[in-house]
Amino acid sequence: MRSRRLHWLAAFGAALPVGCQTVQTTRGGAVAVDRPQQMSVLAPSEVQVQVQVQGEAARQYAQVKQGAAQKGALNRDAKQTERVRAIAQKLIPQTAVFRDDAPAWKREVVVLTSPQINAWCMPGGKIAVYSGLIEKLQLTDDELAAVIGHEIAHALREHTRERMGRAAPVQLGATILGAVYGTGAGDLGNLFGQAMFVLPNSRENEQEADRIGVELAARAGYDPRAAVTL
Ligand SMILES: [Zn+2]
Repeated sequence: MRSRRLHWLAAFGAALPVGCQTVQTTRGGAVAVDRPQQMSVLAPSEVQVQVQVQGEAARQYAQVKQGAAQKGALNRDAKQTERVRAIAQKLIPQTAVFRDDAPAWKREVVVLTSPQINAWCMPGGKIAVYSGLIEKLQLTDDELAAVIGHEIAHALREHTRERMGRAAPVQLGATILGAVYGTGAGDLGNLFGQAMFVLPNSRENEQEADRIGVELAARAGYDPRAAVTL
């Protein structure tokens, strides 16, 4: 059954133009991040790819939350959660500078109790901040805004999707097709998980996230110099 499905996908995938397309995920803003991005796409629908990736992000985010809740590690400190959410809420409206669709993303912000110094924002805007980051580095609001702004910027630039395409350009096309037609969502999950949590961002992507993050923080009224002190 499985091999037949793969043959079908391979045949169908081969019949469709799977390849790279230059896309512009964001506008330049004041910081002018304007590198054209090569995204693996499957005609006819760039939007379809975006929807599937955001859908997979939402599923995996729900899993992360569920796992944390079972360990009592989800939003354990109400004050800390409120602080992180308040900062994120000031940053989010500023995303309109870079993308028209971003302010309407179905965002969520959680704090995970963990010693890890970590934070991330998934495609589509779902955010996690680890308590280790806040506590071990004793971050000020300005510094926290710089970190969250940086992570939001990765999502605005769709760097995860870019990594998915780089890691497996043809596989991404096939998995998106599989997800659209309900035959291969698991493959999409693997590819997304790899790109989101395992594969590193390129230096170039980090620089883009730094620049956009600084602008988001500054526009939200935070001191952009905090990014430097980090
Ligand atoms: Zn980064």
